[in-house]
Amino acid sequence: MKILNFGSLNLDYVYQVEHMVQPGETLLSADRKVFCGGKGLNQSIALARAGAEVYHAGLIGPEGGMLVDILKEAKVNVDLVDQIEEATGHAMIQVDIEGQNCILLYGGANRKIDQVMVDRVLAQFEAGDILVLQNEISELEYIIDKAYEKKMKIVLNPSPWSESLTKIDPAKITLYICNEIEAQAMTGQQEPEEILQAMRGSQLVLTLGKDGAWYQSDKGSRCYQAAFKVNAVDTTGAGDTFTGYFVENWSKGVDPQLCLKYAAKAAAISVSRPGAAVSIPGKAEVYED
Ligand code: ADP
Repeated sequence: MKILNFGSLNLDYVYQVEHMVQPGETLLSADRKVFCGGKGLNQSIALARAGAEVYHAGLIGPEGGMLVDILKEAKVNVDLVDQIEEATGHAMIQVDIEGQNCILLYGGANRKIDQVMVDRVLAQFEAGDILVLQNEISELEYIIDKAYEKKMKIVLNPSPWSESLTKIDPAKITLYICNEIEAQAMTGQQEPEEILQAMRGSQLVLTLGKDGAWYQSDKGSRCYQAAFKVNAVDTTGAGDTFTGYFVENWSKGVDPQLCLKYAAKAAAISVSRPGAAVSIPGKAEVYED
């Protein structure tokens, strides 16, 4: 059984500014730092740190070499990451002196994934293999249709939420992993209990930030895990860390309650440290008691 994560690879350019740039204004920024990001990249790293043998498939542009390097360093297989003549997906993030941010996103190479690439990638996998997806790449619906035909198990993290996700047939999704905002958009319900009711029939993990997380099986049985208490310094990537740890354990048939525990512990450690990809803990820290 192999795990394929077909997902985004992003460069995050973080600019330190006195205030957010205004319409018509030209502003000099005091500092710029470059970080590796994208929900796809973060989740592949989390899967690998959790102990999975994970294959990442995706596209970068000529300046995206550091993304491949960080994946390799985490022992993610990058044979299915290709480079094309398009800008690497990136985010331009302004951070002001109060720590507020403003983000401009460009999908770039992530949006150039086409059906030819999808067919080529999926040809390497077979029935029973696991496919992990988020909503930051092109051809998501086609990927799901083809993987379903092959009888792969499809894990969908519908993040960031967009209307296009309503076109996906829930019967093709083996496991949904959603935060509260995504689950509210998907079900039209507000409260966790109502969301869980509305999602009956699907296997679901519902994360609620510092209020913990629920697992609900497709038969309707449930378990809950409280969030671990930590001093949160940066919650970016909490959901991605959670997803990586949950999926790795779930794929091995670990009891859902224990999957939730490991995932919540890994996510709590990641929020106690700055950064996204760099804050994802290794398995020794998470699996020790
Ligand atoms: P996302 O990052 O996708 O918005 P959540 O905010 O729901 O996802 O967080 C995912 C999981 O990370 C939570 O279920 C929880 O286990 C953990 N987590 C998030 N925020 C905190 C926090 N402040 N303290 C401890 N754990 C947290």
